[in-house]
Amino acid sequence: MSSDNADITQPKAANVTMDTIVSLCKRRGFVFQSSEIYGGFGSTYDYGPLGVELLRNVRNLWWRSVVQERDDVVGLEASILGPEAVYVASGHVTNFSDPLVDCKQCKMRWRLDHLDEGQYETQYGPTKRNKEGQIVCPNCAGELTEPRKFNLMFKTGIGVIEDESSIAYLRPETAQGMFINFSTIQTATRRKLPFGIAQIGKSFRNEITPGNFVFRTREFEQAEMEFFVKPGTDDHWHEYWVKERHEWYLRYGLTPERLRIRPHGKEELSFYSKATSDVEYLFPWGWGELEGIANRTNYDLTQHAKHSGKDLSYFDEETKEHIVPFVIEPAAGITRTALTFLIDAYDEEPDKDGTRVVLRFHKSVAPIKVAILPLSKKEPLINLAHQLEKKLRKHWTIQYDETQAIGRRYRRQDEIGTPFCVTVDFESLEDNAVTIRERDSMAQVRIAIPELLDALKERLNDD
Ligand code: ATP
Repeated sequence: MSSDNADITQPKAANVTMDTIVSLCKRRGFVFQSSEIYGGFGSTYDYGPLGVELLRNVRNLWWRSVVQERDDVVGLEASILGPEAVYVASGHVTNFSDPLVDCKQCKMRWRLDHLDEGQYETQYGPTKRNKEGQIVCPNCAGELTEPRKFNLMFKTGIGVIEDESSIAYLRPETAQGMFINFSTIQTATRRKLPFGIAQIGKSFRNEITPGNFVFRTREFEQAEMEFFVKPGTDDHWHEYWVKERHEWYLRYGLTPERLRIRPHGKEELSFYSKATSDVEYLFPWGWGELEGIANRTNYDLTQHAKHSGKDLSYFDEETKEHIVPFVIEPAAGITRTALTFLIDAYDEEPDKDGTRVVLRFHKSVAPIKVAILPLSKKEPLINLAHQLEKKLRKHWTIQYDETQAIGRRYRRQDEIGTPFCVTVDFESLEDNAVTIRERDSMAQVRIAIPELLDALKERLNDD
């Protein structure tokens, strides 16, 4: 096989560095360091005007596919603060910790499980070991400290009296809300198995090794769904949700070759999990998890029933038996997915002024759908442009821009991934028509103003 052919089988990460993404995100107001004027704050980030639209789209697209397009999943918004009892029952107080190791020489900090899994290989080469077979520092081959267990939960207190009963935690995942409300929701909605409860919201983990911009942060947003099924049907539903979720990322335009499904080996499985498969993406620094789809068995409901003393079983009308459902959990990250869409969409191409930077977002992911660009700042052109702007704002996110040369304005829209620009020129006043310019091909078509709304609907609405 020629080396060219060998190359085709090797997926390539998006041709962009994280420095480029970070600087574009700040310059254009997608995401930036939180509390920056005070020097930044512990791996937390703020989302600016374009970032919030992007996050909102990711959230809505997930919600639409997992909840609204289905008859067997309902929604929940549970509280972020939870009592200690919930996290004792779930096992987080005892088990939600990462093994932390430090390099005695260069002082770099690592997660031993990540070293074991070879997660730093793209950056540092294959995991190195000393003569005794112990893992050494990927950076300088120095000796590592013994692993220390570090609980990732943020602990806080409720009320004015500080004692054992006031201990609370910020949730480290949204999942527990679905388990502790299982019976209430099942009774209220009269659902029969299989059915799911879904939730989107913030989670908090005191990560040891945050990094890669918003890939791993201490405060982040998750989208999780607990799908309750009859024991014995769990393998089928696990396979089903892995496929379903993989297809979702493809539907919204991620490069297929940069996506893979990776089943966990036995030693890697969480203590509650019978099987887990991750959807992974090939980031500029190597493969990383986008989402985990786990078969959590009946662990969580059993634990909460035991610790709360409440019956969390389900009465099966067919067999007249009480059963504890098994749970299949697709757990995705909204903020991580938004970052992935940004990286995957990034493209540069030569043009007459140097380089055209374009974010080739899927139209449903793009933060701004249409830009209205009058060719001149003068009346009556801007009057017409404002009329169109007002009409289109009822349907989509719009940017109105009348400053600088039209070529510059197109580039500004390309750089934030706006799928369509509508140009209003002097002829518009004569022929009652405008030009629609498409981001990727840069093709332009003339459309009569009375047909503009339908023309954009045809191009933008997702089926
Ligand atoms: P890792 O092993 O990388 O720490 P995990 O397996 O603990 O991740 P899960 O508990 O399965 O992650 O969380 C589900 C999803 O939530 C992840 O796939 C990811 O998209 C998102 N997520 C988890 N932790 C973070 C974080 N610190 N920052 C951003 N997103 C996160």
